[in-house]
Amino acid sequence: MSIEANLTHITQNLRGAKPKIVAVTKNHGIAAMRTAIDWGICAIGENRVQEAITKYADLNRQVEWHLIGHLQTNKVRNAVRIFDLIQSVDSERLALEIDRVAGKLGKRQDILIQVNIAGESQKYGIPPRDTMTLARVVSDLPNLQLCGLMAIAPLYDDPEQARPLFREMKRLFQELAAARLANTNIQWLSMGMTNDYCVAVEEGANLIRVGTGIFGQREY
Ligand SMILES: *Cc1c(COP(=O)(O)O)cnc(C)c1O
Repeated sequence: MSIEANLTHITQNLRGAKPKIVAVTKNHGIAAMRTAIDWGICAIGENRVQEAITKYADLNRQVEWHLIGHLQTNKVRNAVRIFDLIQSVDSERLALEIDRVAGKLGKRQDILIQVNIAGESQKYGIPPRDTMTLARVVSDLPNLQLCGLMAIAPLYDDPEQARPLFREMKRLFQELAAARLANTNIQWLSMGMTNDYCVAVEEGANLIRVGTGIFGQREY
């Protein structure tokens, strides 16, 4: 199917729900990205800073740029320059470095905290029980604005298996919002990918990150 047909298919699957769709364009080229943007996509997600910079030179500010992959501290400067939302903040050390760089660049950087919801050792993210502690640290940093949480569920054969994890994320998200921390604007619960976005949205995701379902298989 074409990119346009895939996007239409996704909106139909969502049956009236209207999460923000972040089109994940890692390993896909500018032409595919333009097609998605022309269709109406307003946010794209990249997981590597260097790849995003190259594409940014072509597409610039036509869309929001979201960083969804792990960020090393030595790449923070370039990340802060181009990304509207860094979804993958998962340590105090990284938060402090983003705050420092954003201050130098005169930017207030929007971020999400990435939670390792299933406790998978091979995945990044902060353990659920440490999320509020990190949120309080971030809330004290003047050049960061915490906007919510992000999580990646394990790839199950049946996405129903991810439902309890998404539910737990929603609970954490509500706890975070209820804490009313200074300096925050808690609005995004980013969860759901090609395999499980329907379940994620049913459980409260309002931002989904879809790559394969829009652009087809990635070639590495
Ligand atoms: C690659 C990626 C996605 C998109 O995955 P698909 O299965 O292709 O939809 C979403 N979120 C993150 C963090 C990713 O790295």
